[in-house]
Amino acid sequence: MPQTIIFDDALAGLLAQEQPSQEQLVCLLGATGGDLIAAADRVRQQHVGDAVWLRGLIEFSSYCHHNCCYCGLRSGNKKAGRYRLSPAEILAAVQQVVAAGLGTVVLQSGEDAWWTTARLVELVQEIKKQYPQLAITLSVGERSYADYAALRQAGADRYLLRFETSNPELYAKLHPGTTLAQRLDCLYHLQQLGYEVGSGCLVGLPGQTLADLANDLLLIRRLRLPMVGIGPFIPHPETPLAGATAGDVPLTLKMLALTRLLLPASNIPVTTALATLDGGGRQNGWHAGANVVMPNATPSVYWQQYELYPDKAQLGDSLQYSLATLVEQITAAGRYVGQGPGSALARKEYNHAEHTAQ
Ligand code: SAM
Ligand code: SF4
Repeated sequence: MPQTIIFDDALAGLLAQEQPSQEQLVCLLGATGGDLIAAADRVRQQHVGDAVWLRGLIEFSSYCHHNCCYCGLRSGNKKAGRYRLSPAEILAAVQQVVAAGLGTVVLQSGEDAWWTTARLVELVQEIKKQYPQLAITLSVGERSYADYAALRQAGADRYLLRFETSNPELYAKLHPGTTLAQRLDCLYHLQQLGYEVGSGCLVGLPGQTLADLANDLLLIRRLRLPMVGIGPFIPHPETPLAGATAGDVPLTLKMLALTRLLLPASNIPVTTALATLDGGGRQNGWHAGANVVMPNATPSVYWQQYELYPDKAQLGDSLQYSLATLVEQITAAGRYVGQGPGSALARKEYNHAEHTAQ
């Protein structure tokens, strides 16, 4: 069958919410993106409207005992600058997020043993006590079911944990000492505990194929993720992948577009990695189905040390400047800033009762 007919059939099937095959997704990923991106933009508009939601991101520790081969914070990088915010510094940063009118704070870190679950529980409880309306998203890596349960009980609403790649061999190669099965167990546990779960993958990992990316999309659909983070891999000079090529921007945009078509009501951020590789990355992402952005609310003195990859795109030298720039960009894209927590699970298409773990 000619490629154009396969493409048209595959796109029509997606718009009818049919389950695509891996071959169809490979075909869509391999084609030029124009029609796909236009379709995703329409579906985004119909299902989640024109709002772009802002999440205040606090990168509160760059210590990490994991050794992911792509990440500048890996334990093997002895040149990485390490810092850890105190609970008081974090609370002050949260206060800035609230003062700026944002409805969600995202607390992210490396896998830092100092931040025991007991300490995190205390922090989450304090934030909820001071700001009951603020949605709290955690992104602190792999923990036990009991730990996730304690954090949920303390008031954490959401959790971000990418599966990075759905190819188990590639996963094992890039994450020494851990497995994809372990990571998926964490995601199932988070879903069982009622978190609004975000996950996703990297695009352009060395050795990753279009078939792998198609499988990533099928996993995203199978997990019915209310939040999906997808960004290009960017090589860091102090990692084993220093000499690798960065992920492809148009391919990343096609992954965002396909995610929107597969899960029309989900929240999809434009990533800083995309903005780092492409000056217009945020706007291009919003036009390819994305509806979220996460400005940096970490005290700026620490920004350089949270170096996952070099030359990270920054919007301004403070949260206030970043927000001013973002509001301009959002408005120029014909969109507006969403108010409140902007939960995907609150949308009628997301029936949480149906949101099964496996
Ligand atoms: N440690 C937690 C974890 O791994 O889930 C949260 C922090 S980690 C830095 C957040 C995300 O950064 C990871 O899920 C990974 O996809 C992304 N990341 C790390 N190194 C990267 C790189 N070189 N290029 C692009 N994204 C990267
Ligand atoms: Fe640590 Fe997360 Fe980086 Fe892996 S991706 S090395 S877990 S900070």
